[in-house]
This record gives sequence, C-alpha cells and structure tokens, in this order.
Amino acid sequence: MRTTISISCSILLSLAMVGVAQQQKLGYDDTPMQPNGRWHIHDGSRPQPVVVEAGATPGAPPSDAIVLFGGRDTSAWTMDDGSPLTWPVRDGALESAKGYIRTKQEFTNFQLHIEWATPSRVEGDGQGRGNSGVFLLGKFEVQVLDSYRNPTYPDGQAAAMYGQYPPLVNASRKPGEWQSYDIAFAAPTFERGTLKHSAVVTVFHNGVLVHHATEFWGPTQHRRIDPYTPDTIKGPLKLQDHSNPVRFRNIWIRKLAGYDVS
Ligand code: MG
Repeated sequence: MRTTISISCSILLSLAMVGVAQQQKLGYDDTPMQPNGRWHIHDGSRPQPVVVEAGATPGAPPSDAIVLFGGRDTSAWTMDDGSPLTWPVRDGALESAKGYIRTKQEFTNFQLHIEWATPSRVEGDGQGRGNSGVFLLGKFEVQVLDSYRNPTYPDGQAAAMYGQYPPLVNASRKPGEWQSYDIAFAAPTFERGTLKHSAVVTVFHNGVLVHHATEFWGPTQHRRIDPYTPDTIKGPLKLQDHSNPVRFRNIWIRKLAGYDVS
C-alpha cells in the first residue's frame, strides 16, 4: 500500500514538473520560420503584446489613448495659426466657430475616435448643411456633413475621403444625433524624397465600415487633389470651420508606434 502511494506521488510530481516546463516554454522553436524570416511559427520568444485596458464602455478611451477632448479641457488644441482656441465648449461639446483648429501635437500612424453632431435645426443643403471635416495630418479630409437625405456629390458626403472616394455606404444618422468615426491611418512614407507608400485609411462611420485600407491619391482639396510632398509624413489633427455649427466630443487618439505601411 505504502509503495503504491509512493509511486503515485512520484508520478504526480513528474507530471507537475512537466507542466512547469511546458508553462515556461510558451511555444515552439522547431517549427518553420514565418515568411518574413523573423520568428518561428508559434515562437514563444516573440515579444508579448503590451497590455492595454480597453475603455469601460463602447467608445471610451483605452488606457494608452491620448484624450484630445473629453468634454471640458481644450488644452490640446489651438486655432490653426497657433493662437488660443476660440471655439466654445457647450454642454461638454466643442462647437465649430470661426477658423479651423488643430492639435498642438503632431501624429504619423494612429487610431482615432471622434464623435460629432450636425445642427438639429436643418438649414441649407448640399455642402452647406452641417459641413465640417476631420483633417488627418492636417491634409487628408474625412468629410463631416449632414448626409441624412441631403444629396451632394458622392465624394463630398459624410465620411467621404473628400474629393477622392465616397464612403462604401451612407451610414449617416439624423441631424442633431451623435455620430462617430473610428479611423485607422498610416502616414505616407518617402524614400530619398520620393513617395514610397501613399497614406492609407480605414474608416468606420457609426460602426459601419466605409473605407477599408484605401489609399489617398494625395492631400485633399476642393476641386483638386494636391501632390504628395515629403513634408506630408506627419502633422496635427485639424477640424474644419465651414460656417456651420458642428459639435464634437469624445476625441481620442492612439499612436501606433513602430507601424507603417511598408
Ligand atoms: Mg468639410
């Protein structure tokens, strides 16, 4: 009897030791290399992803986000010419007024969340109804417009890559209702002054995919497309004044360090 217990204990001990060894060795080093030649398939020595605490509710900033506007503090922003911000904050929302605004910080590759609402009282039509814009690097506009039953040229409606691509679908809410953009953006890259990769954007409008890894042909403009220039590699986030009072709230950004299109 005693011998049986002793054997059982040693088996359990052996199994436990194997378990510890398996825990320490997280993966494999005898598998084929992945195509980029950096890691084995299931390579346990590969760095673990950084832990990020997701926002408590949908749309809330995760732990590594830079909050650009959370309802009160506007210190991340200036007018486009660098002078102090003059857009008013009302009921926790930043409201567009005279002049574009920009962030003090510049960005390259990032994830952006921004919420906006066009006026609930509908005035004007086409490009004159609830027009603003989210300018990535200050040069690439994702259009903000009241596009609820408001026809305009398709590459100028809400969520359009302005002057280049209409959104895949029109996911607009009614005037006055809060809407959201979730944007992943990769800045263009240059090699010895020549464009290597165009800017690439993915956009969700109210949770609906409207652009999927789509390249900008160049900086956006009214009635034209500007060429890429080597200074296009970084820039602030800008919000447009188009003479319509558009509100913004819950604006946060996550820098995507170490990521680029190449
Ligand atoms: Mg606009």
